[in-house]
Amino acid sequence: MIDVHDMTKKYGKLVANDSITLSVGGGELAVLLGPNGAGKSTLIKSVCGLLRFDGSVRIGGHENHTTEAKRLLGYVPEFPVLYPMLTVAEHLEFIAKAYRLNAWEEKAEELLRRFELDDKKKKLGKELSKGMQQKVSVGCALLPQPKAIIMDEPLVGLDPHGIRELKAVILELRDSGCALLVSTHMIESMEENWDVTYIMVKGRIERVCRRADLAANQSLEDVYFAITEGNGREDAR
Ligand code: ADP
Repeated sequence: MIDVHDMTKKYGKLVANDSITLSVGGGELAVLLGPNGAGKSTLIKSVCGLLRFDGSVRIGGHENHTTEAKRLLGYVPEFPVLYPMLTVAEHLEFIAKAYRLNAWEEKAEELLRRFELDDKKKKLGKELSKGMQQKVSVGCALLPQPKAIIMDEPLVGLDPHGIRELKAVILELRDSGCALLVSTHMIESMEENWDVTYIMVKGRIERVCRRADLAANQSLEDVYFAITEGNGREDAR
């Protein structure tokens, strides 16, 4: 569903993503790990069509800049960007109109309820805390019921209820056949549920780890530190 082939992104001379190839199938939860500066956000922004790059990115078989691809893709950015003068309810209505959704109200209500925003419907974007903004951002990404979902550090800034709920939502989406690519620093938050993990170091995918690859008693954290320790500092590039 999410297919990245030989994708390279440079900022001037800096190679932030160096010939990345990865794919996430329907019903698969892929985790993207790596130290600061490894190139995770660049990869995510490139996949979502926000950056120019060399190589190929396809969503459901469509080049990522096409309308077909965008219809299939939901994106939760690292930092929520809301409209300061739209209310919470208006954000969802805006997304519903932009995607020309039918009978979206019930889904919107469900998302608001799950993320404890149902009593904040009339609050303006600018009046929301960072965590509430993050929840609205997640709601906007999920309202069109995308088949491929990319989340950049989605748990950061959420309260314990929000974290629990979003983790549950991620699993439900996976079980309903969505392809999920989630970047996180909170390895333990995904430890129980990941299917495949891509560990990035200095712009490259240094290790593709599937659950079955782990030795008995080996955790994802063990693998991460074995790969990145002493190897991940940005100034070592
Ligand atoms: P991560 O998300 O893993 O922390 P990023 O993708 O943000 O990594 O950054 C990868 C590299 O690209 C870093 O060296 C960072 O300084 C650099 N970088 C990121 N964004 C830009 C930009 N807009 N212009 C120039 N360099 C950038």
